[in-house]
Amino acid sequence: MGTLDSFNLTGKKAFITGGARGIGKSVARAFAEAGADVAIVDTDLRAAEETAAELETLGIRSIAVRTDVSDPADVDRMVETILDEFGTIDIAFNNAGICVNEKAEDMSFETWKRVIDINLTGIFLTARAAGRVMIKNGGGSIINTASMSGHIVNVPQPQCAYNASKAAVILLTKSLAVEWAPYNVRVNCVSPGYIGTEMTLKAVDWIPTWESLTPMNRMGKPEELTAAIVYLAGYGASFTTGTDLVIDGAFTCA
Ligand code: NAD
Repeated sequence: MGTLDSFNLTGKKAFITGGARGIGKSVARAFAEAGADVAIVDTDLRAAEETAAELETLGIRSIAVRTDVSDPADVDRMVETILDEFGTIDIAFNNAGICVNEKAEDMSFETWKRVIDINLTGIFLTARAAGRVMIKNGGGSIINTASMSGHIVNVPQPQCAYNASKAAVILLTKSLAVEWAPYNVRVNCVSPGYIGTEMTLKAVDWIPTWESLTPMNRMGKPEELTAAIVYLAGYGASFTTGTDLVIDGAFTCA
């Protein structure tokens, strides 16, 4: 197999949580361009359906599945739907996440729990669901979206629950990688820096600070993450598991 074949996902069956927009949507398009069938998993069914329809114009199959990743029953239903439609799961991009900017002393228990439930427990639930299928299949690739916030504390905005959730995603990724290595189920994560999506672009007052703290002096675009995630999904990463790929314009180096 040639090196460029590493990026060929023809016939693979993938799901992407938080796939309706932002980073998830960009990666969905990249998976589709690489030949995979893609299930768009999101709480926003209408946006997920629009994304799935766009992907089908690329000649692959795509379905929208309304799922709250923090709800175990929803995740069970999601897997049943994907297995009914696609027959199996080869690639899981566990990417859904939220960020709440509140000072720790003012943060309610409910807010703390919501962030942890979606960003950490949601990744556990969807990774566990994918892992069960992949263990039976004899292999697969799971990629989780962590963040540079799992490595550093962002300023000026307060976001302790988010940062804690993302640090935990990195060690959850490594834990699953070690447990599932004997089954050829690879588990990796990506840690993006500031990327222009709905999550960040509304924070107009903070953007100049974020840019000036990034050695590349700008935010990244979702498309600047996609090749790395296709790489982790495919054959080229067949000995790569338990790694965290930081893609942040050198933010965490400075
Ligand atoms: P976004 O807000 O544009 O997209 C998030 C998507 O997740 C939305 O479609 C939303 O409907 C969906 N979602 C939210 N809660 C969900 C739930 N409970 N179940 C299912 N779907 C849910 O954000 P984005 O910037 O594309 O973020 C994607 C991931 O990347 C997140 O995990 C985020 O923490 C992470 N991340 C983002 C940045 C950034 O700068 N944008 C940086 C590092 C990490």
